[in-house]
Amino acid sequence: MKEFHCGSLVPGCDWHTRHEEEAEVMRRSVEHMREAHGESTIRETMVEAIRSRIANSQKAA
Ligand SMILES: [Zn+2]
Repeated sequence: MKEFHCGSLVPGCDWHTRHEEEAEVMRRSVEHMREAHGESTIRETMVEAIRSRIANSQKAA
């Protein structure tokens, strides 16, 4: 399982998501950035910032 905590990128945000596929975590995260943080244009730097913060879920083991 992969997970992403938005708070690691946007301090104070407690949104997070978890999924088997990193691509799905990525998709949901981008959607969250659009809807919750008003990022109408998701730049490559934003994608990279999210990707670098996607971690293996500790509950997977
Ligand atoms: Zn957020």
